[in-house]
Amino acid sequence: MRKKIVAGNWKMNLDYSEGISLFSEIINMVRDEKNGDQIAVICSPFIHLNSLSQLSAGIVKIGAQNCHQKEHGAYTGEISAKMVKSTGCEYVIIGHSERRQYFAESDSLLAEKTTIALQNNLTPLFCIGETLDERNNGSYYQVLESQLENGVFGLSAEDFSKVVLAYEPVWAIGTGLTATPEQAQDIHAFIRAKIDAKYGMNVADNTSILYGGSCNPKNAAELFAQHDIDGGLIGGASLKSRDFVDIVKTFN
Ligand code: 13P
Repeated sequence: MRKKIVAGNWKMNLDYSEGISLFSEIINMVRDEKNGDQIAVICSPFIHLNSLSQLSAGIVKIGAQNCHQKEHGAYTGEISAKMVKSTGCEYVIIGHSERRQYFAESDSLLAEKTTIALQNNLTPLFCIGETLDERNNGSYYQVLESQLENGVFGLSAEDFSKVVLAYEPVWAIGTGLTATPEQAQDIHAFIRAKIDAKYGMNVADNTSILYGGSCNPKNAAELFAQHDIDGGLIGGASLKSRDFVDIVKTFN
């Protein structure tokens, strides 16, 4: 059985005390209301990680939004996977489209980040997704395949089975233009077929593939009901405790 996961990505929002109070609300609601085996994760800015890990009591898992590809060294301003892990958090987002776009992160760099995250016992939430142009010109299957091929398919089967994938079409992120359940299912099935071809059916069946892009409490149920959608990566709606927890509860 693959894991069902709803992960919030706070992006570059919330100062320290705002993050603590939002997380406290989320954790109380999840503790009181969650009824199922779905996993709730909050991926916060680095400044919150240690405090959230201490508050979480395992009820909500904690993740970072990035890590550096090197173990340590003279990289002013950067944070290593080992440092992330030392805060007590368990997940790290790798390859978000905003990092690909604004920080020019290439597939080969993301492959390095994934490897170092795994070496430090972090679960990578590895994101792939096509732009609007790529959707419109029909090249999206090739784009997604190449992001998989060059980002994570260099891993051994054992390592790949520790990765969670997220399909986030860039045109759906922060735009209110959610992929339809059919569009998302089509891509998730495509991704799973690629995993099957690379690693076999057992690994493919056990890989969680999350959908991200304008997911909210109104559309989550229909998206998560699709056969190959195992949860969501939630941006804007994870900044509101009620909305985020309602999405988590969609799996109840
Ligand atoms: P929105 O939910 O705000 O569209 O963001 C999705 C996202 O980028 C999550 O990583």
